[in-house]
Amino acid sequence: MGGLARVAFGILSVMQTLSSFVGGAWVEGTGTPVELHDPTTEEPIAACDSTGIDFRAVVEHARTTGGPALRALSFPQRGQLLKRLSAALHEQREELIEVATRNGGCTRGDAKFDIDGATSTLAAYAYFARDLGEQAHLTDGAPLPLGRTPRFSGQHVWVPRTGVAVHINAFNFPSWGMLEKMACALLAGVPVIEKPGTSTALIAWRVARIIAESEVLPEGAFQFVCGSVGDLLEHLDAQDCLAFTGSAATGEKLKGNANLVRRNTRVNIEADSLNAAILAPDADAESETYGLFLANIALDMTQKTGQKCTAVRRILVPADRVQAVRDDLVAELGRVRVGDPGERETRMGPLSSRAQFEDVRAGIGRLAEVADVACGGAEPPHAPGWFVSPTLLVAREPDAEILHAEEVFGPVATILPYSGRADEAAEIASRGGGGLVVSVYADDPDWTESAVRGLAPWHGRVWIGSERTAGQSLPPGMVLPGMVHGGPGRAGGGEELGGLRGLEFYMQRTALQGFLGFLEGRFGAPAAETAETAEATGSA
Ligand code: NAP
Repeated sequence: MGGLARVAFGILSVMQTLSSFVGGAWVEGTGTPVELHDPTTEEPIAACDSTGIDFRAVVEHARTTGGPALRALSFPQRGQLLKRLSAALHEQREELIEVATRNGGCTRGDAKFDIDGATSTLAAYAYFARDLGEQAHLTDGAPLPLGRTPRFSGQHVWVPRTGVAVHINAFNFPSWGMLEKMACALLAGVPVIEKPGTSTALIAWRVARIIAESEVLPEGAFQFVCGSVGDLLEHLDAQDCLAFTGSAATGEKLKGNANLVRRNTRVNIEADSLNAAILAPDADAESETYGLFLANIALDMTQKTGQKCTAVRRILVPADRVQAVRDDLVAELGRVRVGDPGERETRMGPLSSRAQFEDVRAGIGRLAEVADVACGGAEPPHAPGWFVSPTLLVAREPDAEILHAEEVFGPVATILPYSGRADEAAEIASRGGGGLVVSVYADDPDWTESAVRGLAPWHGRVWIGSERTAGQSLPPGMVLPGMVHGGPGRAGGGEELGGLRGLEFYMQRTALQGFLGFLEGRFGAPAAETAETAEATGSA
């Protein structure tokens, strides 16, 4: 399999040692390196290790060199840095796609999803920054009169925190995951220390090399740790923050870190999620809404081999339509060609590591105890390589806890029957304990409103598909810079992106109280005053 595609990887033919970028230099570890693999061939292709790095010095470098340099710039100037970074990465797009295929098992489409996601998020934040003005703060709301007259008023402002942002990222989006966090932190004026997931760190390392070589960012604004973060978290303090993306289990461990708890260091957790898709009874088999439902589920299950935090895991279908939906989805998934991601016809590549491969196969086995396998299953379709087939199951025991609790992180989803009532669908979806996104396919506005009201408290995002948006909507698995990403409960309880909302995590909201004239003049209240307010405030 894949002879032609393998030959194309000339530049990656030697085993690469991945270093860390700390204190302005590339540093190799002094311990035993961890090997990274090509998941298509299982060959080792790189190794990384961070042993010996002085993490106290790394944190200090960010705080004393990177932070002041960033804060000396205005928001639009920092936005320009993001724009230049986006361009520098886009220039190397073809090479990054090649690396993502080799280290991540990504098809060209999957690699573009990650890499273009990164560059477009940087560009979006550069755009959000353009009208923010030259001042060193952002205002939050209008001045609020607090005294007998507006002369004594209050104004909420956001100011950059003076610490460092540590970003611990998941393996599945080595480019986008890192850059979407960086965009918000750097625009807020906070330096970053990035740690990628190790199994796909070759991609993140290439991105880091491009960032460092571009010399766009001020010294100390960007550091990159390839391997373990050692005792890094023990050096964080009250002005620092940790943003983590990964499994719920690791998130729980990091959130409980005694030093972070003691110092009240800000922590944002983006964890896993049993995302649901819900088919309403009125979306009949002939409707465009049903066509959208089938197409999105097939895409969502197989894009990035189902290794997306937003991928659908539970498909809620009115009980009398389970068999028909099962047959239609099996037909859709049967058209997905699984194989070498370097080959043009391939629609789905392998899982990105042996550990993931073993976890997914074991997870399918556990789901199969309470659900029937409609297609796919735990048997690998190819060898060598960490391949699984798109796997659809139909619940035999829809109330079994495992269906609502275990995220099988691959191209795997289960159909569950429900009565067709919107409130029941919302209740079943909420058994996931809190999700990143839920998608609803419905045309009846009353049914849809009822579903949305039940779903919204449990989900960071509710995606509504209908015939009015068919052909125009982006799929539910796509995270957009202008909309918040995150979810309550099991999904981590965090929130990222959402336009300028994404900056708030890196800034301090402070309530200023004082003379309105001073607040308006120095802290961003509108400059133009009417004669009436000038007299009332005494600033005339
Ligand atoms: P993971 O095993 O939890 O690892 C996530 C990151 O944490 C990696 O960089 C990992 O480093 C690091 N890590 C693990 N243990 C650590 C510790 N004790 N101290 C400090 N860092 C530690 O998750 P993953 O397998 O990479 O990612 C898959 C999971 O992420 C899935 O469950 C998926 O749903 C979730 N995810 C969520 C989102 C979201 O936005 N909510 C996005 C993407 C993925 P090493 O790789 O070196 O172990």
